Amino acid sequence: MSADCIFCRIVSGDIPSKKIYEDVDVIAFHDIHPIAKVHFLIVPKLHIESLASCEVQHQSLLGKMLLLAPQLAKEQGLAGFRTMINTGREGGQEVFHIHTHVFGGGDTLPKT
Ligand code: 5GP
Ligand code: ZN
Repeated sequence: MSADCIFCRIVSGDIPSKKIYEDVDVIAFHDIHPIAKVHFLIVPKLHIESLASCEVQHQSLLGKMLLLAPQLAKEQGLAGFRTMINTGREGGQEVFHIHTHVFGGGDTLPKT
């Protein structure tokens, strides 16, 4: 837990969020500035800065986050979706608590 981390404060309930999933390790909630019809974030409760600071002991947590993506996307009514993990400032990361973006719906996804 980091007191100045927005996602730690969402995990602790200090900052409200539109939560769609929670278990002992992970929460998922809708992004406050969605870039698609459905856009949510899968966030571990453990404060890890980014994918670049993950180590082998985080392997199962990372696997869990990834496997939740199709399950939650389906629950949110998505037939297909995109996942994204921004890493480091130059990788577009703005919140330095690792998270997976999951988004889709409509026909607005740009081709990459
Ligand atoms: P990043 O650029 O770090 O990969 O993505 C951070 C994401 O967190 C952004 O898409 C941003 O809209 C979202 N975000 C930032 N602050 C909040 C917040 O307080 N609540 C929610 N639900 N999303 C947030
Ligand atoms: Zn944090």
